[in-house]
Amino acid sequence: MKHRTQEDIDIYRFESGEEGPHLTISGAVHGNEKSGPRALHKLLEHLESGAITLARGTLTLIPVANPKAYAANTRFVNYNLNRSMYPRDVIEHYEDRLRNVLCPYLAETDYLLDLHSCTAKSDAFVMAGGDLSNPDALAFMRGLGVPRIVSGWSDIVGENKDIPDPRHAFGMTEYAREYGAHAITIECGNHDHSRGPDMAYQAACNAIQTLGLAVIDPAYQINDVFQEEQITIILKAAQFKTQEGEFSDTWHNMQAVDKGTKIGKFADGTILTMPEDGYLVMPNKNAVLGAEWFYWGVRGDI
Ligand SMILES: [Zn+2]
Repeated sequence: MKHRTQEDIDIYRFESGEEGPHLTISGAVHGNEKSGPRALHKLLEHLESGAITLARGTLTLIPVANPKAYAANTRFVNYNLNRSMYPRDVIEHYEDRLRNVLCPYLAETDYLLDLHSCTAKSDAFVMAGGDLSNPDALAFMRGLGVPRIVSGWSDIVGENKDIPDPRHAFGMTEYAREYGAHAITIECGNHDHSRGPDMAYQAACNAIQTLGLAVIDPAYQINDVFQEEQITIILKAAQFKTQEGEFSDTWHNMQAVDKGTKIGKFADGTILTMPEDGYLVMPNKNAVLGAEWFYWGVRGDI
């Protein structure tokens, strides 16, 4: 095992000595998202003790990608680390220094699993992305075992024209994909989900196993998460909170909702109903005026 620390980022590399893919797993790109680091520290323990041994390929773990934000339990210090991800000649912010450490690691990996968590009450889900017509990319994403895959973000989430940086939307996965990696983000439930670390840990185990890096003894896996059937939700639209309003229920992320069900009501009396049989995605009862109130999507295939 090789251990390097740059800009306080601990990076652990395990090499099997046998040919095989290079998998990188990262956590706490957003410092207030603790499930990824907890899972990766546990995985690290099992790798260091020999309870899990690599049969082929290379595994790199970056448990805490943003150490200062992690220590302060905030999303970031100066600038969202999961945006504008590319190396800098001129360092403007703390996160720029981190980008310069992280980018070479993202550029050299074959696969990236980036572990996050979200604000909306939710179980784990995959943010589908990349070239999913590529069978290796699709197999990696499905092999993570996460029951909900949400697709279509890039079609729905518009570019923010107020931000001058054309690479603003470039995060960890986008940068890794530029260099040929198959890269996936998982939201391991809401930030304080009691099983967030378990879901992150099992997704990491599944990533290792689906790429054939190791066969992990069931004693070192968490077998009671991810028991549901894996389905894909294709996002159809975002509903913005264009005026004050209220939800008509305590909606959960990815809750199945029948066509015609009342979702909420605007202050002027307009009632919002579900346009098709489908799923509510990322409902945010605290959305500020003008922001996304909820997304909705339907079951589909990718
Ligand atoms: Zn995040």
